[in-house]
Amino acid sequence: MKTVSDYFGSMVFDDRVMKATLSGDIYASLKKTIDEGRELDINVANAVAAAMKDWAVSKGATHFTHWFQPLTGITAEKHDSFITPSPDGGVIMEFSGKELIKGEPDASSFPSGGIRATFEARGYTAWDPTSYAFIKGKTLCIPTAFCSYGGEALDKKTPLLRSMEALNKQALRVLKLFGNADVKRVSTSVGPEQEYFLITQEMYEKRPDLRFTGRTLFGSRPPKGQEMDDHYFGVIKPRVAAYMEDLNEELWKLGILAKTEHNEVAPAQHELAPIYSTTNVATDHNQLTMEIMQRIAAKHGLVCLLHEKPFAGVNGSGKHNNWSMATDTGVNLLSPGDTPHENVQFLVFLCAVIKAVDDYQDLLRISVATAGNDHRLGANEAPPAVVSIFLGDELAAVLDAIESETPYAGTQRIQMKLGVDVLPKFNRDTTDRNRTSPFAFTGNKFEFRMLGSSNSIACTNIMLNSAVAESLKVFADRLEGAADLEADLHDLIRETIKEHRRILFNGNGYDDAWIEEATKVRGLSNYRTTPDCMPHLLDKKNADMLIGQKVYSPVELKARCEIMLENYCKTVMIEANTMIDMAATGIIPAVSAYTAEMAKTINAKRSADSTVSCGYEISTLKKLSALNDSIAMKLEELEQALQKVREIGEVEEQSYMIRDVLIPRMNELRARCDQAEIKTAKSFWPYPSYADLLFSVK
Ligand code: ADP
Ligand code: MG
Repeated sequence: MKTVSDYFGSMVFDDRVMKATLSGDIYASLKKTIDEGRELDINVANAVAAAMKDWAVSKGATHFTHWFQPLTGITAEKHDSFITPSPDGGVIMEFSGKELIKGEPDASSFPSGGIRATFEARGYTAWDPTSYAFIKGKTLCIPTAFCSYGGEALDKKTPLLRSMEALNKQALRVLKLFGNADVKRVSTSVGPEQEYFLITQEMYEKRPDLRFTGRTLFGSRPPKGQEMDDHYFGVIKPRVAAYMEDLNEELWKLGILAKTEHNEVAPAQHELAPIYSTTNVATDHNQLTMEIMQRIAAKHGLVCLLHEKPFAGVNGSGKHNNWSMATDTGVNLLSPGDTPHENVQFLVFLCAVIKAVDDYQDLLRISVATAGNDHRLGANEAPPAVVSIFLGDELAAVLDAIESETPYAGTQRIQMKLGVDVLPKFNRDTTDRNRTSPFAFTGNKFEFRMLGSSNSIACTNIMLNSAVAESLKVFADRLEGAADLEADLHDLIRETIKEHRRILFNGNGYDDAWIEEATKVRGLSNYRTTPDCMPHLLDKKNADMLIGQKVYSPVELKARCEIMLENYCKTVMIEANTMIDMAATGIIPAVSAYTAEMAKTINAKRSADSTVSCGYEISTLKKLSALNDSIAMKLEELEQALQKVREIGEVEEQSYMIRDVLIPRMNELRARCDQAEIKTAKSFWPYPSYADLLFSVK
């Protein structure tokens, strides 16, 4: 039998394959490019391309593609075959270094936020050698960045790589102060936990809302939801288990470290977590994972829903971004050390994160803002839209002690003297894990929990890396050239804790009292919706930081804001359209038909016996008729609102109109339709119910 280690990474042109197929010189040269970002020589590129092609062809590949991540949030590819005609009428398989390094997809219809005028249709893709090439189907996929001819980033990978570089640069400055001469690189790692729903293809096909928008736009609550908590970590059903098995195998072949899988809170909800890797690779892998999850589902007659809120009133799906910083010498900078020296270093990096999250809380919120995620954040579930940090009681007590220069009152009752004392060990068990916190310290990493299940993790990590780079820059600027480093470190840590104390919160993040305190007393931002937060991307404070860290240019930043708002508007408008269609052609006629049936029954009963009361039928008929009139009225109001929204040319203004007028109309229409669903005979209702959908996988 084939074991996992036999086929793990078998579809990846990874280090093992490179070593085996490249000459020593070429391999060494490529490694330099990968590890140190050295420029690639064209001769090296040619040799790598030839080896890659031979390897790919031997695995059955016929095509190659530059695989990239445009601002739509999904991945894009354009396939070219390897074939080149030979003079004798046949073909040979060719792939040059030039084709490996640079591609020119005709990409005029990807969003560019006005960066690339349409007459200048072409952007170009550039190989990212830090993420391995892989084979998907019969195609060799080469991870690439996507830019305009002017060099502006049109994708999510480019700013992510820039943010990693920014953090590396500033972290190295700080590490140098601690005498870490051997460290050459600091990189960030991420392990994203991915939630999703599985329903049957059969049910999915019957719901236009799921097909067009990824979520249900109508549907009354099922008689049984998640209140029994019997699904969470419960036994995995055989059909789901078969799916997970198949999925794991596909992911493993692609070198993706799928590790944990379990049922989630809601019926039909599940989670998949990989072992963490470098942010850039983790991002590519998460995009691939989402794509493969959907493909494998189809093979099993299932549909994988990645929407943040497929079902109202049922737990939504998020993604947890577990994040840390580590040196190339293997030190996790967010792991409390064993010596006093290491502990001060840990505290400095911890403070850098605390300062970053407080100073740029709005950017973190913006990084997860989509129409889909608005149903979770600030609505009635998982993390609030207010960003705060959970440190756990023990670490919080240590920081208190440092700030007030009083003895640490924890179990060990020690006087915290930085550079002298050893911090108590914060092992996982003592950090009581607060599931309601948006940004939680979990022993040796932070877990950011505001991401929606369909978000690309690139956006969050771009903001996180850049903001932490900025804190580290401020620290390094202050500490470099310090006369008494130890004293300055002590002051820096104390001052940072004092200044950013407001972002620290160990309590229940879902509590209304907390939202009140956070916003009114502490002055934290609370952006409930995408239109509320997105324009703040361009606030001077944010733009200065992102441009200063060389993560975005002013043009790129403006383009992002525009594209994100445009995505929001388009998404909700498609939803409104779908609702209008479903209500007009499905729901209203169904209710009408059922009331007609009811009238027929009344007549039939009365003609049999004119004295029967028909009380139930008459009252239902009356209620449903009135409800249907009200649905028709709300439908018309929604149509009018949508028309008004369409007439607005400016995207920011349009997004406000959607938030304030269109969405409330949608909610009103839905509420009435859901009431009608409860009163209408199932045989008349045109769509599968929530119960049908949520309990469809047996
Ligand atoms: P859980 O949160 O479910 O208890 P873990 O905390 O073990 O599970 O891990 C959650 C995710 O965090 C996994 O993807 C794991 O690989 C990742 N992770 C663990 N350590 C780190 C780290 N140092 N940096 C980034 N991610 C990490
Ligand atoms: Mg977790």
